Amino acid sequence: MINYLYREQNWKSQLSDLITDPQELLNILNLSQDDLLSGAILASEQFKLRIPRAFVEKMDISNPKDPLLLQVLPHHLELEEHADFVTDPLGEEQANHLPGILHKYESRFLLTLTGACAVHCRYCFRRHFPYQENLPKNHDWENIQNYILQHPQINEIILSGGDPLTISNQKLETWIKRLESIEQLQTLRIHTRVPVVIPTRLDDELLTLLKNSRLRIVIVIHSNHANELDDFTVSQLKNLADQHITVLNQAVFLKGVNDNADVLVNLSKRLFEARVMPYYLHVLDKVKGAHHFDLDNAIIEQIYTDILARLPGYLVPKLVREIAGEKNKTPLYGVTVA
Ligand code: SF4
Repeated sequence: MINYLYREQNWKSQLSDLITDPQELLNILNLSQDDLLSGAILASEQFKLRIPRAFVEKMDISNPKDPLLLQVLPHHLELEEHADFVTDPLGEEQANHLPGILHKYESRFLLTLTGACAVHCRYCFRRHFPYQENLPKNHDWENIQNYILQHPQINEIILSGGDPLTISNQKLETWIKRLESIEQLQTLRIHTRVPVVIPTRLDDELLTLLKNSRLRIVIVIHSNHANELDDFTVSQLKNLADQHITVLNQAVFLKGVNDNADVLVNLSKRLFEARVMPYYLHVLDKVKGAHHFDLDNAIIEQIYTDILARLPGYLVPKLVREIAGEKNKTPLYGVTVA
């Protein structure tokens, strides 16, 4: 058992002490396979290794197939070319109307305040996204405000990633206050994986900030496996529910990680213990470098049918695929997943 005492560490110090060296990661996990190391070094040249120590603490020692490790360890298979796996699988360049704005859906848009994440998930559909050209500066606020006012159907803003909870509470507060000042906005959604990989990020200051907002706050975390939700993480997530904040989870269906009905059933049950409702189960977006996580359609339907039979309806996440240019995510159960 690794023990970094991460529960006592401020989230900012954890964020500034990420593991970025494949050799260090493999040493900590007592993994000495040369092919793992050489593959990780090569693949991390294209998309860097980036993992909080608090997340590594949840992994099994000496297990190269650990489901948490597989999500974050660069692998030589990422370097394979597959014609249908591309750099922008969701066509987000077309939806990028102003720096920081991705407007794909009618009543809401994504605001990307940062390109940084606490962890680099190897299957991430934005692993090639040109964040540096798209981050809003303070002086962009006026344009963003005007954009919202010119689209009166927009009533919800989604802070997305990069991961918005990697920025300071002060900066977050500045942006929340700006959004609160626009009367037509009712809901603020925050998409984040940080509470799963650095649970101390849910500090009192953040909880107070969210609790006091006039906007309805929805936090959508990202967890793919129950092993990510240890007792400390669960207790931190419960603090959000205690502040009457709606907390949902989205997961990605990943070969080798959660392509098993038992794993997905356990994930939903564990989320419920943390007072987090399962929301989406995404079929993998076909992003270049992630082909080795892809699953056959028949397997997806078989597993999903199994979890439908085993869980109460409120604990079954919606199985969806995002299709570039569509106005909503496409539900898949009962229709072809091709
Ligand atoms: S935290 Fe989210 S945005 Fe960041 S790499 Fe992982 S999946 Fe992508």
